[in-house]
Amino acid sequence: MVKLDRTPQKIDKLRKQLLKWYVHNQRDLPWRRSHDSYAIWVSEIMLQQTRVAVVVERYQAFMGRFPTLVSLALAPEEDVLAMWSGLGYYRRARMLHKAAQFVADQHQGNLPATAAELRLLPGIGAYTAAAIASIANEEHVAVVDGNVERVLCRMAGWEADGATGGAALRRRIEELATQLVDPRRPGDFNQAIMELGATVCLPRNPQCLVCPWTADCKTRGEHKTQPRAQMLSREVGHALSLRMGQQPGESNREVLLEQRPAMLSVMPGLWELPGLREPDVPAEELRMNVRHAIMQVNYYVRIRTVFEDDVDALTVAGGERRWVPLGAAGGMALTGLTRKVLTRAHLFPAVSLDTIAPQPDVDVL
Ligand code: SF4
Repeated sequence: MVKLDRTPQKIDKLRKQLLKWYVHNQRDLPWRRSHDSYAIWVSEIMLQQTRVAVVVERYQAFMGRFPTLVSLALAPEEDVLAMWSGLGYYRRARMLHKAAQFVADQHQGNLPATAAELRLLPGIGAYTAAAIASIANEEHVAVVDGNVERVLCRMAGWEADGATGGAALRRRIEELATQLVDPRRPGDFNQAIMELGATVCLPRNPQCLVCPWTADCKTRGEHKTQPRAQMLSREVGHALSLRMGQQPGESNREVLLEQRPAMLSVMPGLWELPGLREPDVPAEELRMNVRHAIMQVNYYVRIRTVFEDDVDALTVAGGERRWVPLGAAGGMALTGLTRKVLTRAHLFPAVSLDTIAPQPDVDVL
């Protein structure tokens, strides 16, 4: 195969083609209206593992509640997790919160300017550091995420196989990305190449006919990738237990929630429906079946209606339990599964859009 032309003239031409395409085709996303490093940081952390449509809604609510790094640092963790609800992968929210506290404490509330300094903060990896430094501060560093990897592999005609896969391929991609990034507009260039991967050079059915780089691309279509890990399956059951609150009336119902213990590695501190002793549920007691994916596991979840008097007999106590008014439950840091079940059961009548987010199909850590 003929190699990608990487002469200075060709590199310059590729930069210009991509930036011109970006000017006319970029999506209007709320974080693109800001060059504030805190705002970019929040958006980049949210965008890891969560779909853009979900992030758009949650980002605006989150920034409304925590408009500055210091306001985030000063907030209780429970509030931060509640505002993260619906985005999944809660470890990101905890790390973001901790890093904000560190910056407020050690850097007078100002994020460091360079990628190298940002890398020293808890929870900021190479990708996020490069994104913040280039977009907010125009530092000449390349951003390499999954979209960029795919675009560059296809452009250069590289495939992920035994010979070129893994660390060696990753090094080649980073080298090409570094060579390509435009020193005059590194922030725009990095956003442009990520945008190309997200909207044109798609994992399946890339839109090569409208791609600004199609004339130089060595693949023009899908490329060979590592096979995906097989999903595992597990069956579990949860209890949906409701009762009337202190005041009579339909809107005063309460739901029984349980807090996951803090020592758990997965979703510590989040609230969920109590687990059933037996996932097999008699047909007359079955409220709904839900499929929910967490990492590489597909959970097939049976939700059983459980009366208050039967809770102890039918469920396994795993943490602190609380009867919570339905109107307040939506504002708590719920697991993605619990939020999905309560939403599908139409039990969130009084919750505003600020507290209910669309549910990603795959969450939650
Ligand atoms: S030509 Fe097609 S495969 Fe190549 S970079 Fe563009 S969209 Fe991707």
